[in-house]
Amino acid sequence: MADDLQTQALDEIAGARLTIHLDPLAANHATLRRQAGGAAVAGVVKANAYGLGLEPVARTLWCEGCRSFFVAMPLEGVALRALLPEAEIFVLSGLFGEAALRLCRNAGLVPVLASANEVEAARGLDMPFGLHVDTGMNRQGLAAANLRPAAEALGTPTLVMSHLACADDPVHPMNALQLRRFTVATASFSGVRRSLANSGGTFLGSDYAFDMVRPGIALYGGAPTSVADNPMQAVATAEARIVQLRRLALGDTVSYGATFTAQRDMLIAIATVGYADGYHRAGSGSGVPLRTAEAQGAIGFIGGAKAPVVGRITMDLTMFDVTACARDVAIGDWIELFGSSLPVDAAARAAGTISYELLTSLGARFVRRTVGQAI
Ligand SMILES: *Cc1c(COP(=O)(O)O)cnc(C)c1O
Repeated sequence: MADDLQTQALDEIAGARLTIHLDPLAANHATLRRQAGGAAVAGVVKANAYGLGLEPVARTLWCEGCRSFFVAMPLEGVALRALLPEAEIFVLSGLFGEAALRLCRNAGLVPVLASANEVEAARGLDMPFGLHVDTGMNRQGLAAANLRPAAEALGTPTLVMSHLACADDPVHPMNALQLRRFTVATASFSGVRRSLANSGGTFLGSDYAFDMVRPGIALYGGAPTSVADNPMQAVATAEARIVQLRRLALGDTVSYGATFTAQRDMLIAIATVGYADGYHRAGSGSGVPLRTAEAQGAIGFIGGAKAPVVGRITMDLTMFDVTACARDVAIGDWIELFGSSLPVDAAARAAGTISYELLTSLGARFVRRTVGQAI
């Protein structure tokens, strides 16, 4: 009861809120399971589940039958272990020394060793581990020639994996090249689970699924491929509070730099969200010459209509053109920044970035809440 009251009070005073819809999250997991055929669908929950909140996301996925998870850093794994005592938790990065590996061992995490250095550090530690082989991304991963020797030095891995560089583009030749290299490099690992596909890879066809797929962004509603319609449901809705309405006359200018000039009478809404919240300044309606992605900048959604950002986005406040829906807008209303009415991918594109960066940038001033299935 006290918690309910607190949540309600927070919602009343919040300037920005992020709503996580758990039913679409579960539905996306089911879609990925269908897409993956017989392969297991692991949940990638690094970076606080892409900014959505580790706890509600991890618990929901666990309830949906997800048993394997990936995090980037050992401490993220420790936090996840506290939530899910029985999950299989793989750690992808940050394993540069023995201390990190010992931490993994103590928390029952499975480090995915991705360099000769890491293999060396794991010698004699006697713990389950995975091996990451590079197939062309040139980020993390052992050279293919070092994969067998690593297994000979350490024993049988629980997983061998690699990562696709271009999986969001189904016709990119890198996909087939990496698939071929991965198949060859892992051919001698009979009985060891293999994993290659991220979200995009899960939609490249059954050849890419192997034993386990590792989707992140698709679980959270981001488009897994850049060429087709997005088959995923929106999971996160970001909104900001309207704190002021202001009439503009012909010739009035808006925001820093006075880069926007009203060409007619207008009504603008001032909302409590800005670049300090991760609502990127590059999404400004004008005055940011470096943006090439979308000439007109970001838009909000309110009263059933689109409301373009007007002038520069500032640290704490953003102005939206609500002339078209003036009758449906009042102080205290929420304006959607992305979510069920505005795809997160479009909102990211308007700021010259991708859904991953937009979601993981959302700041601490967003009040986070979940709706949907009880967990
Ligand atoms: C982040 C990450 C994933 C998930 O990628 P998405 O594109 O979000 O599906 C999978 N594997 C590795 C190695 C990653 O770093």
